[in-house]
Amino acid sequence: MATAIFVRDIAQYDGQEVTVRGWVKAKTGKGKLQFVRLRDGTGQVQCVAFKKEMDEADFEAIRGLTQESSVIITGNVRADERAPGYPGGYEIGVTGVEVVQVGDEYPITPKEHGTEYLMDRRHLWLRSDRQWAILRIRATIIKAMRDWLDNNGFLLVDTPIITPAAGEETTTLFELDYFGEPAYLAQTGQLYNEANIFAFGRVYCFGPTFRAEKSKTRRHLIEFWMLEPEIAYCDLDELMDVEEQLVSYIVAQVLAKHQQELEIIERDTVQLANIAAPFPRITYDEAIERLQKLADETDDPEQKELLKIEWGEDFGSPHETALAEMFNRPVFVYHYPSAVKAFYMQPVAGRDEVCRSVDLLAPEGYGEIIGGSERIFDADLLRQKLQAQGLPEENYDWYLQLRQFGSVPHAGFGIGIERTVAWICGLDHIRETIPYARLLNRKYP
Ligand code: ATP
Repeated sequence: MATAIFVRDIAQYDGQEVTVRGWVKAKTGKGKLQFVRLRDGTGQVQCVAFKKEMDEADFEAIRGLTQESSVIITGNVRADERAPGYPGGYEIGVTGVEVVQVGDEYPITPKEHGTEYLMDRRHLWLRSDRQWAILRIRATIIKAMRDWLDNNGFLLVDTPIITPAAGEETTTLFELDYFGEPAYLAQTGQLYNEANIFAFGRVYCFGPTFRAEKSKTRRHLIEFWMLEPEIAYCDLDELMDVEEQLVSYIVAQVLAKHQQELEIIERDTVQLANIAAPFPRITYDEAIERLQKLADETDDPEQKELLKIEWGEDFGSPHETALAEMFNRPVFVYHYPSAVKAFYMQPVAGRDEVCRSVDLLAPEGYGEIIGGSERIFDADLLRQKLQAQGLPEENYDWYLQLRQFGSVPHAGFGIGIERTVAWICGLDHIRETIPYARLLNRKYP
């Protein structure tokens, strides 16, 4: 009886008879010799069927296989350097086959398809090599983030998805009917994280967040996943230390585990290999000066226009790209104007117009992947900020109470999973970083 194996482990079975359960990626060959590229979710292996080495009915069954047919193949593993596949280097000489279902004509073929066509068939598109590689890297990125935090004294504490009030700002809220009362889908878990640090010190939450972003960009999803650490007794410098170590660890893990996937998606890894803490840290003021200087010096009128920025304005993508290009590594920009940031950020002492916030900008044009800050820990100041934003104080009563019972300076950040995946995988658009993207114009499938 042949051993049922996963293709990723094939090297352990050289010379043995095995069974692989999977789907037909492609079939070629003619007459007495057929090649089936079989994928099983863990990898791909070339299966070679010789008419004379098997039962006639089995050989005919193989000849009848279509793309994506489900099939259980039995055969002998043999090493062959040239054998294609993932991991490659081994092929299976087929001895028997059980066809589970012969697939109908598959709508996604090796020819080029348009993006909307593929997004309409996302449930099938996920089977393609490129999507398979990206989503495997995504899983590693999430695991690396969680491992690093778990190993550095952070506790996972889950925060609610249904919330009574805005966590960030009111323009991107999704409202729900909560038994006749308004409620909102979480934009962040941060406010609850802040409560949780008083019980656990260092915490993080990880889950989906929802923002009704009305602009169509290649960096915004409506539903995205965020990992949010929050730390008691922490200032901005320590926060940046945590961020750069976390990000360096994620990149190192992807490079260590996913050379094959990075090759499939044709990611140039030279830049990634340079990602190591510490990352440069510049103030918003310095960033504005640098951008203005760059705009002055550029001869290209279009670029000049794109780079134009005045103190007080938030950065757009061209600004973030230009800043990151100056360093070729992720760069921290800190002390943003309070007016462009959320209500809970601690003002800089003696300079109320700026706050103790920090964004991490990824290189290669990927822009902000992390937003973080020190949080206001004084109840009166927080109350003033809520009022200034027109946020109803009664909804934040519990949040204000945190400043009453042992309030401490604290800080935290949110790292967007999809923006991180887009950067590490070198993708043009965020839609491929998540299995089922929710975009301004898409909620199907
Ligand atoms: P932006 O200004 O780019 O819209 P933001 O300042 O609203 O982002 P934060 O509130 O600081 O973002 O959120 C923390 C992180 O969550 C961001 O750095 C980013 O990685 C991610 N993020 C925020 N909004 C989105 C979105 N709509 N789609 C995907 N990721 C997002």
